[in-house]
Amino acid sequence: MRSARLSRLVSLGPAAVRWAEAHEAEILRTGLPLDAKMQAVARAVGVRQPERVRLAVVARIPLPEDPDLRQAALSLGMLGPETIGLTLGHGIYVRKRPVSTRLLSHECRHVYQYEQAGSIAAFLADYLQQIATVGYLHAPLEVDARAHEIERL
Ligand SMILES: [Zn+2]
Repeated sequence: MRSARLSRLVSLGPAAVRWAEAHEAEILRTGLPLDAKMQAVARAVGVRQPERVRLAVVARIPLPEDPDLRQAALSLGMLGPETIGLTLGHGIYVRKRPVSTRLLSHECRHVYQYEQAGSIAAFLADYLQQIATVGYLHAPLEVDARAHEIERL
């Protein structure tokens, strides 16, 4: 069961990377830069290049068009109607403004994780493996992001 889920998710990896890279590019093209206070939040959670981060405010976080990928994202709890933020490299989708410091710090910690991984592909390889083995809630990269949430600077 566990290994079937893992191999299914690993097989979706390349499609997930393509989707994430395309959406990061879209956010970097259309999103807003962080203001000084937001950059301070990003720096506080370890982001090395806060000036590269862009925020795109969207009515709904986009779901993958690929039906298998979309189904996997929904069933594993990575994306859904309640999702309020999603980080793809230096691009962050948020559902509404103003963005709370708590949400911003959580998503910026994912930016830090992408920076440490070095690429979207490297980050997603770890992230998807964690989701497939221990689940979204207990994935170490999510635990780390929650541990770095800041209520206010
Ligand atoms: Zn998260």
